[in-house]
Amino acid sequence: MRLAVTEPGVPEIFHSLQGEGISAGKPSVFVRFSQCNLHCVWCDTAYTWNFQGTEFIHRDDAPGAPRKFDRAAETVDVSVETLAARLIEQSCRRIIFTGGEPLLQQRDLGVLIQQLKATDPDFYIEIETNGSIKPAGLAAELIDQFNVSPKLAHSGNAAAIRLKPDVLAFYAADPRANFKIVVAEPSDLEEVHELVSSSGMPPARVWLMPEGRTPQELRSRERWLAEACLRAGYNFTDRLHIHLYGDTRGT
Ligand code: SF4
Repeated sequence: MRLAVTEPGVPEIFHSLQGEGISAGKPSVFVRFSQCNLHCVWCDTAYTWNFQGTEFIHRDDAPGAPRKFDRAAETVDVSVETLAARLIEQSCRRIIFTGGEPLLQQRDLGVLIQQLKATDPDFYIEIETNGSIKPAGLAAELIDQFNVSPKLAHSGNAAAIRLKPDVLAFYAADPRANFKIVVAEPSDLEEVHELVSSSGMPPARVWLMPEGRTPQELRSRERWLAEACLRAGYNFTDRLHIHLYGDTRGT
């Protein structure tokens, strides 16, 4: 399995509080997968996909000097068995597979989750996905919770790539799935309403989250976003980890 790293050769596996969405505040073990099929201009984990030799655009690019990451230095391959052993030795049983996009590696992920559940049925498995890939096989059966984060136009991804109506309808119909939508400006809200309505997402399973990588950016958007949530019946989520630790790896 190809994982992101906290430093060369060290997989990004860490124990922290979930910072966002329905499980915010819960102690969890995070495993960050490398690689993503989307390329959001404001992504805070661009080191999982914005590698040298690609032409993707990111907000951190300087004029004439795109900020690119060394693929070899930013990734590490770990076997299913090694990762399973590493997770089994943790005392925390809430495991969050995040990325990047973990479902790009869902065949191995399904085998890994099967090993974890066979060892201890108390393992609780969350997947953070961008909602453009449907889970299949073991990965679909054994996952306890999907944290689905479909992207709006301000992410910079073409609609045909980021929005797959059949995939979003699948998650909307699955009570294990909740939705977290990143909002940057009040003008994004019409797009949110259209996406929720056309996909059949129950508003009670939708969380709106301000875009931001600093406490100041988050605070500047929280007041009007909270009021929009109240009006529409959505949930609001902050980004707890940003307030606690800043925009840092392994937190
Ligand atoms: S889908 Fe998530 S990991 Fe992928 S580029 Fe967008 S924000 Fe980053």
